[in-house]
Amino acid sequence: MSPLKEPPNSESTRHLALVLIILVGCSVLGLVAWEAVTSRQQALDAAQVTVSNLSRSLTQHADDTVGEAETVLSGLVERVHNDGVTGPQHERLHLVLKQTTAALDQLHGLFIYSSDGRWLVTSNDVDPPNANNSDREYFLWHRSHPGPAVHIGAVIVSRSTGELIIPVSRRLDNADGSFGGVVLATLKVDYFKKFYDGFDLDEQGAIVLALGDGTILMRRPYDPKVIGTSIAKGVIYSQMLPHASTGARMVVSVVDGVNRMIAYRASSVYPLLILAAQPESAIFAGWRANLLRSAVLVALVFAVLGAFAVLLLRQIRHNQRTEADLLLAHASLQQMAMQDGLTGLANRRQLDLALPQEIGRTVRTGRPLGLIMLDIDHFKRFNDLYGHPAGDACIRDVGRAVQGCVGRAGDLVARYGGEELLVLLPESDAPGAWRVAQRIVEAVQALAIKHAGSEHGVVTVSAGLHVWTATNPIPTAEALIAAADVALYAAKHGGRNQVFPTLDEPIRVRPQVF
Ligand code: GH3
Ligand code: MG
Ligand code: MG
Repeated sequence: MSPLKEPPNSESTRHLALVLIILVGCSVLGLVAWEAVTSRQQALDAAQVTVSNLSRSLTQHADDTVGEAETVLSGLVERVHNDGVTGPQHERLHLVLKQTTAALDQLHGLFIYSSDGRWLVTSNDVDPPNANNSDREYFLWHRSHPGPAVHIGAVIVSRSTGELIIPVSRRLDNADGSFGGVVLATLKVDYFKKFYDGFDLDEQGAIVLALGDGTILMRRPYDPKVIGTSIAKGVIYSQMLPHASTGARMVVSVVDGVNRMIAYRASSVYPLLILAAQPESAIFAGWRANLLRSAVLVALVFAVLGAFAVLLLRQIRHNQRTEADLLLAHASLQQMAMQDGLTGLANRRQLDLALPQEIGRTVRTGRPLGLIMLDIDHFKRFNDLYGHPAGDACIRDVGRAVQGCVGRAGDLVARYGGEELLVLLPESDAPGAWRVAQRIVEAVQALAIKHAGSEHGVVTVSAGLHVWTATNPIPTAEALIAAADVALYAAKHGGRNQVFPTLDEPIRVRPQVF
């Protein structure tokens, strides 16, 4: 029987299971990764929309705030041109400036300066003595820039109250068109601060109101040190604003180094720019939380998948082992079914299978088939003398001796029944088969198993030899055995411990009697 192997598909089954499990794992991982990438982009897009909308509404607010101041300034210019600032007009103007300042939240004060910088009329009840604003940037600007344009200056500290203010101003002309002074509205930086603080933004969310040249007027989160500094060298002013008056992108702040989604919008009316920004940390906070949840979920799926894989592979291995065990059991059962229990030789069943096959082979090859029927001499007496167990041992020893006399592949020694053995010698001609039979008879006698009931004093066998060649009509298995049996009968009659042949053809080998 061929050595037992693991079923050939066992390795590939294990591989297939592993590949399937790895595929499922990779699919889960791929899905989660894809979901993570797309939801990150969604968060970014949503942030861009939010800050763009915010910058748009804040630009509108800045325009409206400065626009109201401009309207007031235009009225004042008209009034000063028509009525002057002296006499009873002075007191009336003071009242108008005071009431207007009180009426508009963003206004810190209203001021009218002469062409040499003196304070002519203000919204203040008491002005500092001998105050002169001819050194202020807006004053110098208007003096050198004829025309009705509104000027918005950088943040300054008020000389009347010490507050941070944004100067919005217009030029006064004399009747001849020469420089006649400046009307000034000052806007409270605090007004913008309060307004910007009212928005629900992340702690690091930023809003910046800046001049067209990049000078910061107000920034949330508020830091007085930042007011007046410039962001002209930042990405927005240097790279984006020259191409478009509005836009949005992720930018690392030049002020605090935080990475933010920034939307900017330049006012279409005034030299102002609004930036609204949301920090990366706030944009991706929800996304990160989701990612963490997904990661935990994936880890769980992988743990379950891993456990499943281990169990599955173990089960497959177990099944394969069971299968192999079954094959082994089946094989040994088959072997047991073909073997004689006492001698280990082929049994009758195996002989019944082998003999027809050998007849077929003889027909195909044309080579002769030898049969030797062996029978232990005076065995009844042996049993009587030494007992049945000794008889069994004797049969076993004789079987071993007979087996030792046949060496060719295809030769078969079978226990035919009781103490009778049959030897099949395929492709053996009469002289060859004769020699084997003779060797067997000699070998059994040489065992020297004591047998007091035998004339030889030891156990001997008689052998009936029959050699069949395919030239004859094809006989049945029974007929061949019967022929060998006839020869055995003759050997017994001839005096036992000898070989006797029954040959279909005239005998060419002389029967030899020991
Ligand atoms: P002969 O020389 O004419 O063959 O004389 P014999 O006594 O051997 O005669 P026969 O072959 O007819 O006897 C067979 C005897 O072998 C019968 C039985 O007692 C004995 N025998 C058959 N099978 C077994 C077996 O398995 N074990 C033992 N111990 N004895 C067996
Ligand atoms: Mg017998
Ligand atoms: Mg016998």
